[in-house]
Amino acid sequence: MVARSTLLYLSRQEGLKDFAARFRTFKKLTTRFVAGETIDEAAEAIRAINALGGSASFDHLNESVASVAETEGEVREYRQILSRIDETGIDSNVSIKLTQFGLGIDAELAYRNARAVVEDAARRGNFVRVDMEQSAVTQATIDTFKRLRSEFGPDTVGIVLQSYLRRTYEDVQDILKIPARIRICKGAYNEPAEVAFPDKKDVDDNYVRVMKVLLSSGVYHGIATHDERMIEATIEHAAREGIGKDAFEFQMLYGVRRDLQAQLARDGYGMRVYVPYGKHWYPYFMRRLAERPANVWFILKNMFKG
Ligand SMILES: Cc1cc2nc3c(=O)[nH]c(=O)nc-3n(C[C@H](O)[C@H](O)[C@H](O)COP(=O)(O)OP(=O)(O)OC[C@H]3O[C@@H](n4cnc5c(N)ncnc54)[C@H](O)[C@@H]3O)c2cc1C
Repeated sequence: MVARSTLLYLSRQEGLKDFAARFRTFKKLTTRFVAGETIDEAAEAIRAINALGGSASFDHLNESVASVAETEGEVREYRQILSRIDETGIDSNVSIKLTQFGLGIDAELAYRNARAVVEDAARRGNFVRVDMEQSAVTQATIDTFKRLRSEFGPDTVGIVLQSYLRRTYEDVQDILKIPARIRICKGAYNEPAEVAFPDKKDVDDNYVRVMKVLLSSGVYHGIATHDERMIEATIEHAAREGIGKDAFEFQMLYGVRRDLQAQLARDGYGMRVYVPYGKHWYPYFMRRLAERPANVWFILKNMFKG
């Protein structure tokens, strides 16, 4: 079986994208996880999610952007998304990555760009979630988020933390003091053992530990996972503590466990689907393969059939 770390290494080799995209099987699988290349295609996917009782978060795929002009293009794209959400009345907020706004170039640039989007969202009564990326930028992401949160309310901007990081439990305590809305996920990048738990059991135990703190905090948080054991633990904890279904939401990725998404929405839980779109789908798509390497075998088997 192809190792997770190999797939995560390949996710950073953008040059492979054009080669891989020539194969129909590969392209077909990308459409399962990526809602298209344009805002309109993503809005269409969101409409279908809304019809099933779910809400969404728009994500324009792009990361580790290296030119200032490109980061400004990302701001324009997100302003268009926010305006499209208003025009169409679809139920969606937005998720951004700070390296998409220039964190790898200059933290001040990323702050300014993100601020422009958050300000637009505030004006429209919408919400911006700051995704969490690799551990090299964890602190810078939290610092930039705190600046944004000090200027805008908890219902305008929130952050993501990853249960695989050893530091996360402390970050949760720190960020809850502000307070702020947190999306907890397991974490999708290749991280060394000094910063992240190498064993899945520790990642899962930490997830449950953080989930309990979040649910009992009285703030509205996002429980992002497709893991049925994490979902059951959340439902059980909420029931035991008398925490209502409207006090938090579950979140899942576009194309992953659609059955479970529909089920949770039917059961009356908040269910938000993260909907990525855009031309720069390659690293995101490869991280999704790394989460379920069985998909790679499927691709390899069918790749050379045309
Ligand atoms: C809404 C949302 C936002 C996220 N934002 C971030 C972020 O900002 N930063 C970050 O580092 N990570 C983010 N992630 C990714 C996250 O960190 C995990 O990598 C991903 O969710 C897989 O973990 P899991 O909790 O589903 O559990 P796992 O233990 O990985 O998976 C549990 C089960 O879910 C199913 N499953 C999981 N992934 C897939 C897949 N790709 N294809 C098919 N089945 C699958 C399988 O049945 C698997 O057995 C986000 C995830 C979600 C749902």
